[in-house]
Amino acid sequence: MRDRAFPWLTIAGGALTAIVLRPSAARAAARHHPSRPLFDLGRPTPSTVRTIVSSGWSRPRGDRLHRALDIPLPLGTPVLALDRGVVARVQRVDAGDAGRWLAVRHPSGLTSRYLHLSRTLADLEQPVERGDVIGFSGSTGNSAAPHLHLDLRVPAALLPSVERAVSKPRTGWGPAMSPWGHSIPGEPWVPVDGYRPIVERDARVAGIPLHGPGLRNGALVYHPVGERGEPYPDWLRALRGSSGVYIIRDRATREIIYVGESSTGRLYATLTRHFQGWRRWKGFWRGQYAEGHDPGLTYPRGACEVAVRVTSPADALNDEARLIRRLRPRDNVIGQPTDEEAIPF
Ligand SMILES: [Zn+2]
Repeated sequence: MRDRAFPWLTIAGGALTAIVLRPSAARAAARHHPSRPLFDLGRPTPSTVRTIVSSGWSRPRGDRLHRALDIPLPLGTPVLALDRGVVARVQRVDAGDAGRWLAVRHPSGLTSRYLHLSRTLADLEQPVERGDVIGFSGSTGNSAAPHLHLDLRVPAALLPSVERAVSKPRTGWGPAMSPWGHSIPGEPWVPVDGYRPIVERDARVAGIPLHGPGLRNGALVYHPVGERGEPYPDWLRALRGSSGVYIIRDRATREIIYVGESSTGRLYATLTRHFQGWRRWKGFWRGQYAEGHDPGLTYPRGACEVAVRVTSPADALNDEARLIRRLRPRDNVIGQPTDEEAIPF
């Protein structure tokens, strides 16, 4: 009883979309990709189940804050492991606030917990795969109606990585709970249909920076691109065939120099031409590009570092525009911004 039909597709943008579009090249890109998502998680329910999140991160709950996703589900809906892991807890008796519940520890260090179940299906220390049915939804414990309370917890050592990926919620990380670690927001990682409006509203009220669809998991990690004449690094060459956005910055001063994109699967070529000074010298680009997309801006490789985000072709242009507005790169042509979009960072 598994649900493996595109378990991530609902909200997984970026590299994952690229994986679907171009299996081998994009998989290589994801492996080496500098801004690979911190957690790639599947859905907690079969893909045929359409549901929402009724309560998100840090919504007030009595005198506490709710640090989980509440997902209303018909009684007995299969509940799926978000990812590969080992069952770290099974509570088969309906006792306490959590009722029947279980926890799965994943190789990344993340633990996912599934509360209020009507029935648990997995055994303690049982290995599970992403999409395995580990229980059925219920309303056990402190629950008014059938729903899945899904929370994500990490050890303290992982919090800095989480902060880099989603920023630190103003309300703070959840208190450490032995042995499960600190609560982290599930919203950026767990694909659930229709969760966004409610979660975004909650996040706004609580002052939590969530990433937009095109910028999710959006920590930008910069890497050097080698010296002139050297082969490009593997992660960069793995971008062949991908679409996405790139940011070039000065290694010494960290000044953001240029933001560009390719929505036609030419991310590698579009990015590397910035380091091909001879082409500019020969007038190679003249007349080939529309105004505002002059690719003739070339930079000395050794002095630059680059952050890349692989996206779907459709997202590349939007992401580029947002990054330009957010980062105000030195060399991009920036028109008068007409809409001061609130950038969720
Ligand atoms: Zn809950």
